[in-house]
Amino acid sequence: MKIAIITSGGDSAGMNAVVRSIVKCGILKGCEMWIVREGYEGLVRGNTEHADKLAESSTAEAEHSVEDAIHAHSEDISSQTPPDRNLLHNLRFGDGDLLRDGTSEYVGGRTLKGRYIVRVGWDDVRGWFSEGGTLIGTARSAAFRKPEGRVAAAHNLIKEGIDALVVCGGDGSLTGADLFRSEWPEIIKKLHSDNLITDAQLKKHTHLKLVGLVGSIDNDMSMTDLTIGAPTALQRICEAIDNINSTAYSHSRAFVVEVMGRDCGWLALLAGVAGGADFIFIPERPPKTDPWEDQMCAEIHQHREVGKRKTIVIVAEGAHDQNLNPIRADHIKDVLTDRLGLDTRVTTLGHTQRGGRPCAVDRILPTLQGVDAVEALLEAEPGTPTYMIGVQENKITRVPLMDAVKMTRAVATAVKEKNFDRALALRGTEFNEMLAAFHATSSFPDKSSKLPEKKRLRIGIVHMGAPAGGINAATRAAVRYCIQQGHTALTIHNGFKGLLDDSVDTPTWLGVDAWMARGGSELGTNRTLPSVDLGTVASKFQQFKFDAFMMIGGFEAFNALLILQEGRKHYPAFHIPMVHLPATISNNVPMTEYSLGSDTSLNALVDACDSIKQSASASRNRVFVVETQGGQCGYIATMGALAVGASLVYTPETGINLDMLRRDVRFLRTRYSLDVPGKSEGRLVIKNEASSKVYTTEVMTTMLKEEGGTLFDARSAQLGHTLQGGVPSPMDRVRAVRLSLRCMAFIEQHHELLAKQGPAKSRQAIPESAAIITIQGSSVQWVPVQEMVPHADMKNRRGKTNWWAGVKDLVEQLAGKPQFLGIP
Ligand code: ATP
Repeated sequence: MKIAIITSGGDSAGMNAVVRSIVKCGILKGCEMWIVREGYEGLVRGNTEHADKLAESSTAEAEHSVEDAIHAHSEDISSQTPPDRNLLHNLRFGDGDLLRDGTSEYVGGRTLKGRYIVRVGWDDVRGWFSEGGTLIGTARSAAFRKPEGRVAAAHNLIKEGIDALVVCGGDGSLTGADLFRSEWPEIIKKLHSDNLITDAQLKKHTHLKLVGLVGSIDNDMSMTDLTIGAPTALQRICEAIDNINSTAYSHSRAFVVEVMGRDCGWLALLAGVAGGADFIFIPERPPKTDPWEDQMCAEIHQHREVGKRKTIVIVAEGAHDQNLNPIRADHIKDVLTDRLGLDTRVTTLGHTQRGGRPCAVDRILPTLQGVDAVEALLEAEPGTPTYMIGVQENKITRVPLMDAVKMTRAVATAVKEKNFDRALALRGTEFNEMLAAFHATSSFPDKSSKLPEKKRLRIGIVHMGAPAGGINAATRAAVRYCIQQGHTALTIHNGFKGLLDDSVDTPTWLGVDAWMARGGSELGTNRTLPSVDLGTVASKFQQFKFDAFMMIGGFEAFNALLILQEGRKHYPAFHIPMVHLPATISNNVPMTEYSLGSDTSLNALVDACDSIKQSASASRNRVFVVETQGGQCGYIATMGALAVGASLVYTPETGINLDMLRRDVRFLRTRYSLDVPGKSEGRLVIKNEASSKVYTTEVMTTMLKEEGGTLFDARSAQLGHTLQGGVPSPMDRVRAVRLSLRCMAFIEQHHELLAKQGPAKSRQAIPESAAIITIQGSSVQWVPVQEMVPHADMKNRRGKTNWWAGVKDLVEQLAGKPQFLGIP
């Protein structure tokens, strides 16, 4: 199959990762890979004859280079099987250097001038991961909107023999793609009757295989939780808000921050939650009161009354009131200045939000989606619908593209018809949950928000194990929710030790205000388990009259929950709802695919490795062995390796042995020997700290140095505690809020069940009331602690199975390991 990739519409971070992933996966599956420059415009323009001739010389040059490589290889490593000629061709083929430089000038016999559809090879897309935007260019094409433009586009594809297309863009681009595919049979008939294609071409190109990926910073596409580029845009917005927060606090100012998102409020809403904003304006839910100015001023006035020194209002660029009159940042500023007397400034973030360097999710997600896109193309039959590759929680999904586009359009229609309830319903559960979360954590409570006296609970909250990004955000959300409902949140300092020392307090609404963006653990945390003195722990539960208990932490918290649950046999005080919200950078809690902190940690790893790789590349041929934390769990090493494009990854689950090392050394030697002379790059080997007691990072580095000979040098870097990250990532913050509020709902529900049994002393809690909140595939699920035990490897403190186990192979495949060793 010959597959071409297009990026179209507005650029977004992660589009390069899409191209990289699809090019590499396609080559691995034996496909010939092409890219289309400048979106649909490039498809319509195609390649001029003159450019085709020049491309031929480029092809000849590539052939030449393959012969050189095989020759050099046989001299270098004579004992080894030379790599597959076809693979080498793919490796050397392309015009990646030209693409990367973005030049359209004639350079040394090769040029992109007049060439919009270009074949690319493996090495052309290397290092694309860390670059923002799209290196193959994008455009808005008026020509493609016209039938003649699409006929020209089809002709250009057929001329190059391309039979499959991957389009990465927003809803407009994907609508265009679907239209193109549906018109295809008519178009080729026309091309044939106009004698523009031969009988053989007509026969070969009866159908166009097409898959769509959603690249858009707006996260406005229905039927997928995330669009490629949205997490990076959110990160840029939150960085800006974090910075604004400190100056706003210093001067006691108000800031109105305008964010992008077109007709979608996702960026504004999530930035509102993650940035701890006071008020937000989004298109899907305009303020309910008319005039809205009253509602906003009343809320902000309340916040100021309780002592808040700063005010942040976030307005989506598409925001409007109930009557669809636009709400503008400048007007909000005037209202805050005139009515509340606040010194107010406006910050319009503009194109800085488009991203730049992609965050970890915007590397991992496009890579996994790219793999699926190639598989979808290979599986496609004439009758299969055009799929859009999406994601639901942690699961890569395929949905009919037009269903998703239709649903997306329906939101816009609902808004136009002022049917905001429908618009919100169409945005999906997560969006609605986040909106509820924003109100629960930002609005100051009034009497009407409180539950009746007898439903109010005293909820103990404790942090356990090592700090992880998002634990403070989760605690802040729980505390604010409690205050809003009339519950009492009792925060315990320094884990179970602190509980035994009566180090417990009741935080105020304002007291937790700044916790959202704070790393570390505001409560203090340690690894002491309740078994240290279970009887006294039970008596403390009684002393503080806990009606429910929430633990935020890693494997220890799971262990602690197990101990408390088993302690119910002896201590009535534990017959209350008890929950564990997983938070650990190791992501080693069994059965959950995600723990708070793991996203922050992956971002820290990506930042560090981007710098290391730069240094490794500057020295041309250096391998860096990068050691990560993670205890006996290889999650962070493996997903980190995927996010930085490492060549090899070592985990405790697989361990390290001599055979493995021998093969890996051979792979690196082969790989370096095939680099174009003078164009070698730095390569990364990611190794979890506990992968082997014998083959330590030091041993491996020395060994690689020795074995690299003249081909490559080796160095090591230990990331250590830097992986805990400084400021928690926005994704960790928003998930912290969402999951924390789910914990509160769980507690209320189970308390209600228990209360039906009568007085507290005689209550018998069911096993299901001591549970861990997990993300499994596409859903959030509660797992009773007892049910988790069979899935836990208690000795190694990790799950018995890992959803990411196959990712190690993928990392090494994308580095070319099996192919460069001549292994099929
Ligand atoms: P973003 O969300 O970043 O704006 P988008 O893909 O929605 O991305 P658009 O400008 O709507 O951006 O579309 C990009 C290109 O896709 C258009 O310039 C046009 O060439 C093509 N396109 C969009 N809609 C159609 C359509 N209905 N028919 C044919 N082509 C279309």
